Amino acid sequence: MKIGGLQKVTLVDYPGKVACTVFLSGCNFKCPFCYSRELVLPEYIKDQPELSEKDFLSFLKEKKGLVDACVICGGEPTINPDLKEFIKKIKDLGFLVKLDTNGYLPDKLKELIDEKLVDYIAMDIKAPFEDYSLATGINVDVSQIRKSIELIKNSGIDYEFRTTIVPTIHTKESIIQMAKDIGPANKYFLQAFHGEKETINPELGRLKPFPEEELKEIVKEINNLFEIVKIR
Ligand code: SF4
Repeated sequence: MKIGGLQKVTLVDYPGKVACTVFLSGCNFKCPFCYSRELVLPEYIKDQPELSEKDFLSFLKEKKGLVDACVICGGEPTINPDLKEFIKKIKDLGFLVKLDTNGYLPDKLKELIDEKLVDYIAMDIKAPFEDYSLATGINVDVSQIRKSIELIKNSGIDYEFRTTIVPTIHTKESIIQMAKDIGPANKYFLQAFHGEKETINPELGRLKPFPEEELKEIVKEINNLFEIVKIR
């Protein structure tokens, strides 16, 4: 398992739980607005210090009783062939597991859900289906995304969908279409892209965020499709 980072404690990444977040290297998308190029682009991954799985599991053992859960994010965790075994080791230590995913490998997700290895799934929705390739920087087979959305909605486990709203990719109309592509569903969070960080396409780093007032109006329009819809 190629571990590219560890946040030792977070109160915001797993709803209602004290968690740590482990970042796995590698991704099957190249979203131009991605803040994590050190976990996505091979030329940056190679310079990223790695944490061994053994050291990470030792860290977890020490946190027993202090931390409830482990959030596994990336990059894209599901591209790792060892993910299932890695999660089993975390669950054997008694931690809840939240998986952050782009949903492009529904068969991997299904396996984890069927084997009850995940307690919460957060899936990033990048764009309305018709704009998926623009938002991810690769040619996307959107049937895979559709499958993951349905799988997660019918999984019986806690979940959320979420989208980073980027002015060069999303418009009011496309955000409403995206909500219709997902809904009806439990939870949907919109988070405005803030351009001050280093991104895969450095030009996006200079973008102004999507106007918050407009996002609030959109939330009112899509409110009927979700039990909870919020701006983060
Ligand atoms: S934002 Fe896109 S490129 Fe970056 S880690 Fe997530 S899915 Fe991969």
